[in-house]
Formats: sequence, C-alpha cells, structure tokens
Amino acid sequence: MRILVTGGAGFIGSHIADAFVGEGHEVAVLDNLSSGHREQVPAAARFYECDLRSEDAALAVTGFAPDVICHHAAQMNVRRSVEDPAFDADVNILGFLRVLEAARKVGTKAIVFASSGGTVYGDVDVFPITEEASTIPLCPYGVSKLTGEHYLEYYHRTYGMRYVALRYANVYGPRQDPHGEAGVVSIFVRALLAGKGAQIYGDGLQTRDYVFVGDVVRANVAAAASDYCGALNIGTGTETSVVDLHARLRRLTGTDVLPEHVDGKEGEVRRSVLSFAKTQTVLGWEPSVALDQGLAQAVDFFRSRP
Ligand code: NAD
Repeated sequence: MRILVTGGAGFIGSHIADAFVGEGHEVAVLDNLSSGHREQVPAAARFYECDLRSEDAALAVTGFAPDVICHHAAQMNVRRSVEDPAFDADVNILGFLRVLEAARKVGTKAIVFASSGGTVYGDVDVFPITEEASTIPLCPYGVSKLTGEHYLEYYHRTYGMRYVALRYANVYGPRQDPHGEAGVVSIFVRALLAGKGAQIYGDGLQTRDYVFVGDVVRANVAAAASDYCGALNIGTGTETSVVDLHARLRRLTGTDVLPEHVDGKEGEVRRSVLSFAKTQTVLGWEPSVALDQGLAQAVDFFRSRP
C-alpha cells in the first residue's frame, strides 16, 4: 500500500512510519518540522517538508495519491490551544480539511486519525472511559480533535472514505519531546538524569493512563488493515498517579531526588483512564508493554540522547 504519515517526523508519527516501511509499504512523510526532526524520518520514506495549511500539502497528497493516510501532524499543546484557539483550529481543523479534500480527490481509501482520549471526553465520572461516554471537550484542542472526527464521519457518509479515529491516552516512549500532551514522562526522566527532582502540580494524586508508543504503533497498523470505521480508545485501562510515576522513574534512573510540589493547574482533569475493550473486540488490539518495561526503554533512550 501507499501510506502517507503526516507528522511523521515527530514522536509518534516517526515510529509509525518506521513500522510501515518495515512492513514493505511505500511510505511518505509530510511534516513542517515545527516540532519534528528530519533525522527521524525513515530513509526509505519520501519526505514532503511543508505545512498542512499550504498549497504544497494538497499537492503532496494528490502527487503521492496514498491508499491510506495516518494523520498525526497537529498543534497538540493544550495550553497553546487555550491561549490561541484560532491557531489551534487553523492547524487542526482547516489544515486537516485541506488534507481530507486532497485525499478525496485522489480516492484515498482510509484515514487513521490521531485523536485524543484525554481531551475529547471532558468531565466524566465513570471509569475507565468507554467510547460511548459523552464528548464535551474542556479545551479548544479537544474541540478541534473532536471536530476532526466529525469531518471524518461526514466524509465517510458522503464519499465512503473509511476512517479510524484512535483516541490516545498519554503516549510515552523513546523520541518523545517534553512539550507534548504527555510530555511528563520525558520531563521527569530528563530532570532525574540531570540529578533534579522536577515539579509536580498539586498533590500529584491526579491520575493518567500511560500507553507505550510501540503499542500505539501496533494500533495504527491494525487500524490501517482493518475494515472497521469509527472511534476507538487506545489506552491501558490502568490509572497511574503522577507521584507514582515519579517514584517509578526515580527507581529506574537510580536517582533519589524528591519532586517539588507546586500549585495545581486550574481546570486540570483529576482522573483519566481509557477502556480498550471495544478496540480489543474490533481490532484484536490490547496493550502489551507494562509501564515499568516501557519507562525503562524511555530512560535508556534519554540516557543515550540527553
Ligand atoms: P509531535 O509534536 O512529536 O508530532 C507532531 C508532528 O506534526 C511534528 O513532527 C510536527 O513538526 C508536525 N506538525 C505540527 N504542525 C504541523 C503543520 N501545521 N504542518 C505540518 N506538520 C506539522 O507530537 P506527538 O506526540 O507525536 O503527537 C502526534 C499526534 O498524536 C498529534 O496529532 C497529537 O495531537 C496526537 N496525540 C498525542 C498524544 C500524546 O500523548 N503524545 C495523545 C493524544 C493525541
């Protein structure tokens, strides 16, 4: 298959591009390198350096004519989406629409879309969160990701384009930059390796669901090959508090510097954990990397590339 990975120079997208190249597909990457790195693009992949919102991006899609697009390029900073919602919408909604329109013109069969299980659901009180929970995003980034899903449903109904919106929990692992949604793992590891303790917002008992990037890659490969159409959670069903995460990383880095607790972030969700039951049923996917195992791989990566 011909597969285009947008955001394929970034953390998650580059691992996905590697996997598709490894499976023998013809792969192209589209990325403006705003947070991604050229050296992370697999050598065997064609590379289009351009912005999603540019005419060049539309030309790249029509020129490459992919069978499948794995859409990972995004403005993915929640705080930035609050401060500048128009920029967030420009990249995540209008930029994505440009790609979708070009894909429709060349008959792309399927889109695998990086959505966000941490922000499309908003305030829920039943855990782990299933795909049926109400979607009322609490930040503009969640709104733009959910809007992307709505457009995918529209393109599916109108043009028959299949899609899988993968609603990721907090993804972590090698190549992660500290700026991202789940940047906390790389922030903690970098700080601990430098002999510092890092900051924890509030009491640190807020929980998140940490899913290893290798498991996320397997979900993308399965979604691209499946005939399922709709949204699916990609998480582990396990909650981990921030203090527990820091303690695990202290043990794994062999650094016993305690974190500093600072004022909590206003509006931060207290609990977040995703059910993967539906994903297991329709894609046969389940997480396979235990937290300590994945964290150890992240620590090894940051040790070798400080
Ligand atoms: P990342 O920043 O490493 O990757 C994003 C890539 O997109 C980068 O290479 C960047 O250069 C590129 N990009 C950004 N804006 C662009 C634009 N306008 N035009 C072209 N390229 C552009 O982040 P990541 O963690 O790998 O996230 C990948 C995707 O997964 C994003 O869509 C993000 O919203 C989604 N996601 C990530 C997480 C997580 O925990 N990391 C959780 C939920 C969803």
